[in-house]
Amino acid sequence: MAKEGFKRRFDYVLKYTDTVAEFEHYWNSLLADYNCAKHSWIIRLNSLKEKWCPSYNKDWFSGGVLSSQRSETTNHSISRRLHKTNGLCDFYKCFLDVIDEWRSKENKGDYNSSTGNRYYACADNMLCLHARDVYTIAIYLIFEQRFIKAIGLRCQRISYEFPVSKYIVGHPTKDFIRHVVMFNEQEMVVDCTCKSYGEIGVLCSHILRVFIVHNVEEIPKQYIMKRWTKKAMNTIVEEGEDRDNEVSVVSASVWRMQSIRNCIKVINEAQHCPAARKLIDLGVLDMSCKVKEYIGGIEGDGNVSNNFAGCCGTDC
Ligand SMILES: [Zn+2]
Repeated sequence: MAKEGFKRRFDYVLKYTDTVAEFEHYWNSLLADYNCAKHSWIIRLNSLKEKWCPSYNKDWFSGGVLSSQRSETTNHSISRRLHKTNGLCDFYKCFLDVIDEWRSKENKGDYNSSTGNRYYACADNMLCLHARDVYTIAIYLIFEQRFIKAIGLRCQRISYEFPVSKYIVGHPTKDFIRHVVMFNEQEMVVDCTCKSYGEIGVLCSHILRVFIVHNVEEIPKQYIMKRWTKKAMNTIVEEGEDRDNEVSVVSASVWRMQSIRNCIKVINEAQHCPAARKLIDLGVLDMSCKVKEYIGGIEGDGNVSNNFAGCCGTDC
């Protein structure tokens, strides 16, 4: 049984230390305060710290998800639907349901990103405006939080040799360790010792503080991770050349989402122009007739054909 407050301090050391030096400092003070440095469990945990402590793994992209959280999420999603007496077929069906649920959440998030609205803390700041243009809502909120934190940081230039500036950035009272930011203003290359960008793919508050000093008004392209952008979901999966061959055709769910997005985009563009609306109405009518004719059409040899593999065969 852990002593009172140990778990809370342990969580803090695990989640809120950015560098190895910071982690070592708080970890040692935790062990000293609870007098547990010689406990066998702690000794074993300490010997494995490179595997569980995020401070040692900042050079690899993780999206901010701890390694243990990945399996916990999968276990939680699958185990709440299955019982130990279920067979392999039940598991497979359950697995497909879970994937469907995740896809549905993903589509909801995608829709909210393209149509959502909220009150923004930094409505007119150019950097935030740009972030709002490119990122999904969830990632923008992380960016905005970091930008607000950046405003309160102290930034001191310690060296300058054109085009590279070197800064020490940190909060004057709250941060135990301040971070070093290198910024090449000519090539717009930036690096911070907290390594947060490499780990999560969103610029850290230290770098944003330096951007404020240099009046940077757009996030440099190389620091916009595609998976966090609104356009990430719009990647078109190309159909194979031979569409009659089922293997080369993309799955129905992927094609459906891509097509819905394309249609919504055109409809949004046309909604305020009556002539453009009419074009869409006529186009949809024409397309609908052609598709019905194709799906349920009668070929020259008189055979009724169903040209879409896997179609329901009804007047769909
Ligand atoms: Zn940083």
